[in-house]
Amino acid sequence: MFKKYDYLIVGAGLFGATFAFEANKKGKKCLVIDRRTHIGGNVYCESVEGINVHKYGAHIFHTSNKKIWEYVNQFTEFNRYTNSPIANYNGEIYNLPFNMNTFNKLWGVTTPQEAMDKINEQKARYGIEQPKNLEEQAISLVGTDIYEKLIKGYTEKQWGRSATELPSFIIKRLPVRFTYDNNYFNDKYQGIPEGGYNVIIEKMLEGTVVKLNTDFFKNRDELEAQTEKIVFTGMIDEFYNYQFGKLEYRSLNFENEVIDSENYQGNAVVNFTDRETPYTRVIEHKHFEFGTQDKTVITREYPAEWSPGDEPYYPINNDENNKLFKKYKELADNEGNVIFGGRLADYKYYDMHHVIAHALHTVTKYI
Ligand code: FAD
Ligand code: UDP
Repeated sequence: MFKKYDYLIVGAGLFGATFAFEANKKGKKCLVIDRRTHIGGNVYCESVEGINVHKYGAHIFHTSNKKIWEYVNQFTEFNRYTNSPIANYNGEIYNLPFNMNTFNKLWGVTTPQEAMDKINEQKARYGIEQPKNLEEQAISLVGTDIYEKLIKGYTEKQWGRSATELPSFIIKRLPVRFTYDNNYFNDKYQGIPEGGYNVIIEKMLEGTVVKLNTDFFKNRDELEAQTEKIVFTGMIDEFYNYQFGKLEYRSLNFENEVIDSENYQGNAVVNFTDRETPYTRVIEHKHFEFGTQDKTVITREYPAEWSPGDEPYYPINNDENNKLFKKYKELADNEGNVIFGGRLADYKYYDMHHVIAHALHTVTKYI
């Protein structure tokens, strides 16, 4: 039977939009749907007071992959923003990621050797051979002082679990450097797209039919009847009606405030690393684009327990969830007409550049 579309793409985020852009170039007809009221998924920005507000959390593009950097630059230029967050621990300010500026402020040390000695001494006192969880990994990398002031409180708020119950790879996302360098990422390329992320997604979806406010599960029969194949970028456990049980996610609540001041906190990202402050970060969006507006917009980011219906911002990749995911993955691998991709369907803590790379690989594999 003749079908109207070659691909139904569920999710207008970076995975879905990249897939659609490439498929379109290859002459495939795509329908992109999203249950939200806008395209872009979690990279969507909303203009408030002339400032691009990252509605679903601060997004800084970074990659070491030249091909991916050139790929995103075809849609718009990127500015020279370099992420250098600061940590506020009960009013004390420290530079992130953990580097000589952090070590100097904390211990008064001035040379890399002194800093390493301090860390090794604290690590030895703790006696960790092979780190088994996030706490042990963090102490092995930076010692107990930094763990207590800059990691433990933030991590336990962010994930709603003890750092001993979390996988160590999460803390390995952050560089530890024995140079005076506050760049949060080690990647070769970094920046914020000029005009915001919407410009990229809009260009990717030019010429593709997009239907918003459309939930795949509520319109499944009608949607499936129109398409040869499906690209699914939502939650894999939801796709299979949670038949093996629910995967766990961590959610967030964002509280935005417009402030009648040009500059509220002097930096785009300030992390609150004590346990008591209920939010993890305050984002001042204008600084991502060196904005000169009269007002400023800030967002407080509150971590939250996830339950069905909430936004699943982070997969919780502990052993139990990874085991459950594998069962769903086995089903997914045996689907003839459904392709899974993106952060939710792959249940992985992907950054944007990973998602684009995977989408490009998927297009090459299937089309
Ligand atoms: P998403 O953007 O989640 O898109 C999936 C889309 O599918 C959503 O729009 C959703 O509404 C839709 N959908 C789901 N189910 C259905 C359904 N049943 N029917 C219809 N539509 C459906 N990465 C970086 O590189 N740098 C950063 O600084 C960075 N910061 C981040 C900060 C936060 C707080 C978070 C949560 C993530 C951050 N990321 C960052 C990661 C980045 O957001 C993701 O890698 C990327 O946006 C994932 O794209 P995606 O298309 O896989 O998923
Ligand atoms: N982290 C921390 N203190 C900080 C910043 C990060 O302990 O000031 C830990 C925390 O466990 C967090 C992880 O490092 O979940 C990864 O941080 P990243 O900034 O990469 O998180 P994301 O931006 O993805 O939320």
